Amino acid sequence: MSEQIKFFQNVQTYVEQAAAFTDLSKGLIDQIKACNAVYRINFPVKIKDKIKVIEAYRVQHSHHRMPTKGGIRYSIMVDQDEVMALAALMTYKCAVVNVPFGGAKGGIKINPKEYTEEELERITRRYAFELIKKGFIGPSLDVPAPDYGTGEREMSWIVDTYMQFNQQEINGHACVTGKPIGQGGIHGRTEATGRGVFYGLRYACTFADDMKKLGLEPGLEGKSVIIQGFGNVGYYSAKVMYENGAKIIGIAEYEGGLYNPNGIDIDDLKKYQLRNKTIKNYPKAKFIKQSSLLLEEACDILIPAALENQITKDNAPRIKAKIIGEAANGPITPNAEAILQKKGIMIIPDMYLNAGGVTVSYFEWLKNLSHVSFGRLDHRHQDESFNRIVDLIETNTGRRISKREKSALRGADELDIVRSGLEDTMISSYENIRTIFKRHKKMQGLRTAAYVDALEKIGITYAKMGVFP
Ligand code: GLU
Repeated sequence: MSEQIKFFQNVQTYVEQAAAFTDLSKGLIDQIKACNAVYRINFPVKIKDKIKVIEAYRVQHSHHRMPTKGGIRYSIMVDQDEVMALAALMTYKCAVVNVPFGGAKGGIKINPKEYTEEELERITRRYAFELIKKGFIGPSLDVPAPDYGTGEREMSWIVDTYMQFNQQEINGHACVTGKPIGQGGIHGRTEATGRGVFYGLRYACTFADDMKKLGLEPGLEGKSVIIQGFGNVGYYSAKVMYENGAKIIGIAEYEGGLYNPNGIDIDDLKKYQLRNKTIKNYPKAKFIKQSSLLLEEACDILIPAALENQITKDNAPRIKAKIIGEAANGPITPNAEAILQKKGIMIIPDMYLNAGGVTVSYFEWLKNLSHVSFGRLDHRHQDESFNRIVDLIETNTGRRISKREKSALRGADELDIVRSGLEDTMISSYENIRTIFKRHKKMQGLRTAAYVDALEKIGITYAKMGVFP
C-alpha cells in the first residue's frame, strides 16, 4: 500500500526525534511544536461575471520572535495541513540560519495557470485585504514572501494594497519581501534560494572525510546532478551549480523530464523553455515521459526542488544518489528518510539548504526599515580608496594592474553584499549543524542536527521571555 502522508505530522515526527537529543522539557517542546495561529478564509472574487469562492490560509506557527515570516503559495494542493507544516518548517529554518523571525506560511487553493493576470491580481489583492483586516500582515507582525506559484508580481500587488490602507506607516514597504526593486526589493532576492542551495552543497562537499564515506572526491566540480523542478528554485539551483562546474545530467518537470549523461547546458535550456513555453522536445537531451523515474537514476547529487513528499517509502529503496540536497520543503517523508539512511545516503535538510530565500528576505526587510540600499553610502568611497591603492601599487612596482584585477578590487554594490552575506550564512550554519551531528554518535543524520540546533535556539528565546521559568 502506498504511504499515507500527513505533512504536519511528519514535521512533528522530525521534531520529536530531535527533542530526544536536547535537555528541553516536554512542555517546552510541546509549546515549540504547536501552531500559534491558524487563519482560514473563504472569500468571493468575481471571475468572468460569476462569483467564485476562494479558499485561503495564513498560519503563524511561532510567535517566539516577531514578525513571523514565510511565503505565500498558489497551488491546488493547498490545505490547512500543508500550510501548517510549511509554517512550522519556517520557524525551524529561521532559527537554523539565525534570522530573527517566527515561522509563518500562506496559501491560496488555486491553480494560477487557470486565471488571467487581471483575475490573479483581484484574488491577490482581496487576500491581502483579508490579512490586513485581521492583523496577519505588517512589518512588525507577519511578513509574507514568494513561494511555489508566486513571485515579484504578486508581492507588488500585496505591498500596494497594504500601502493603500497604511499610508501613515513609514516602514510599510517592509510588510512583504521578494518585491520588485522599484518597490523596495533587494538585488539578489530572486536567485537567493537557488544560490543558497549551491553555497550549501559546495560547502558540504569540501569535507574530505564526509565525501570519502560516500565514495566521492571533495569539491562540487564534475559531480553529476539531477534536479526535480525547473521553477524559480530549481532553475537557479541548476544555473549556479552549472556555472560552477557541476554536471546537470537530469531535469525533472511536471510535464516530463530531460536526461543527458554528458550534461545539460542550463542557459540554453532556459532559452528553449522561454521560447517554447515547455521543456518538451528539447533537442539536446533525451525526453523522459514519467519524470519521477529520473529521481531514481544514478547521480552524485539529487536535488528535489519542487514540492513535498516526493521521496516516500515507495520509491526510496530505488534512489541511487549519494547526496540528496533538499531545495524544496519536505520532499522526503520520515519513513523514506529511514530507508535512505540505511543506504548511507547523505541528506542535506530543507530547513538549512533552502534557507537562502528567507535569509535574503531578512536583508530586504532590514533595507526597508533602514530606508537605504546596501552599499549606497560607502560604494563610492570604497571605489576611490581602492583606486588610490591601485595607483600606489602601480607607481611603486612599475606594473600596470589589469582591468580584471581592478574590477575585483572595486567597491561592493548591493548584489555583492547580499551574495556575500548569504554565503557567509550558509557556511556558518552548516558548520553549526555538522558540529552537532559529529557530537552525537547515535544521531542518524544532519536533519536531526538541524532540528536540535533550532530547538535549542528557540528554547533559549522562550526561556528569556519568562514563559518557561
Ligand atoms: N518561501 C520561501 C521559503 O520557503 C521564502 C520565505 C521568505 O522569504 O519569507 O523559505
